[in-house]
Amino acid sequence: MKYRHLFGPVPSRRLGVSLGVDLVRLKTCTLDCVYCECGKTTNCTVERKEYVPPAEVREELGDYLENKPHLDYITFSGSGEPTLHAGLGEIIDFLKENYPRYSLCLLTNGTLFTDAAVRKQAGGVDLIIPSLDTATEKTFQLLNRPHPDLKCADIIEGLIKLRSEYMGKIIVEVFIAPGLNDYPEEISALKKALDKIRPDHIQLGTLDRPGTEEWVTPADSRKMQEIASYLKKAELIDTFKPGQRIFTFNDSHSRQILQTLRRRPCTVKDLQQMLSLRPSEIQKYINHLLAKDIIEMEQKERGTFLKIKKNHG
Ligand code: SF4
Repeated sequence: MKYRHLFGPVPSRRLGVSLGVDLVRLKTCTLDCVYCECGKTTNCTVERKEYVPPAEVREELGDYLENKPHLDYITFSGSGEPTLHAGLGEIIDFLKENYPRYSLCLLTNGTLFTDAAVRKQAGGVDLIIPSLDTATEKTFQLLNRPHPDLKCADIIEGLIKLRSEYMGKIIVEVFIAPGLNDYPEEISALKKALDKIRPDHIQLGTLDRPGTEEWVTPADSRKMQEIASYLKKAELIDTFKPGQRIFTFNDSHSRQILQTLRRRPCTVKDLQQMLSLRPSEIQKYINHLLAKDIIEMEQKERGTFLKIKKNHG
């Protein structure tokens, strides 16, 4: 079966072996973050609707999970903001009823938790990872470039409400962009907001693969450590630790590579871990795709990234 709404499993930096479920089309989001790995938001919206048919998602999940693959998480994430999908709760219920052995995670920008219906639907997952990069409206506009209906203070209130209603684990993810949200006044305002939200953990990340805007740079590790110790309960996001066998789709390797790169640029090492292939083997597919002019390379601080060429996106 060819999957249109599932991707991976990917070796997630946070979640181990994670099967991705993508509920929107590239790129549908409530924000247009300057660091987004998926590229510019082409459909910036706050309208909740069925962006992809829930029946197709259920069918693909049923097919993939039939053989009981090893997964640490099934994660709602992908080409934009998953809580925009009006059928999110229905798909979560389907997984909980039919595949209770799997833990579910929701990666979200947290902007729609102002809506009680979204908080209720998300309540069925085991782990929610909302992002919150700033507590000031000015930086929110510069860094996250929100839909005009969204206000930073309302989003923080929504996260506080989520914490009071939701019994599962919440890990807030903070992206640090030098020059935008790494100076003392910013971090101090963010800490006040996080103290009210009371997440179980805070994870700090910075740029490690190409973002939407070229001018966004990674924060240095000393700065990241400094912010982590100030925020308390905060840790830096580690890279994936290889060693676990990752079960792949029964699909051609070059299609899997393209499927992965369509969502985000990756290094050769990232792809090796995802596809459980020997370096020499994976290099063959990459050489082929480079020769066909379908993918290209881009040098970044963490290494050479492969990405889909614009006319093949
Ligand atoms: S980083 Fe997440 S929230 Fe920001 S634009 Fe990309 S998908 Fe949307």
